[in-house]
Amino acid sequence: MDCKKEKNLADCNCTYAACPRKGICCECVAYHRDHGELPACYFTARAEATYDRSIAAFIRDQKGK
Ligand code: SF4
Repeated sequence: MDCKKEKNLADCNCTYAACPRKGICCECVAYHRDHGELPACYFTARAEATYDRSIAAFIRDQKGK
């Protein structure tokens, strides 16, 4: 299976442009999972912009919808 990086980038909402994992969803998920976090695509634009990818931030974001 080929990497879908270019296709993934078209749908990626992450605004942290310097990240080397951007568009490489398997690495992105693994990185944040290893840190007890979720990737940017789980968050609203407002919450994503804080770069707080914690589970607690995700729950706060969901409650604030
Ligand atoms: S969500 Fe995290 S790992 Fe994924 S592209 Fe953004 S900063 Fe990088």
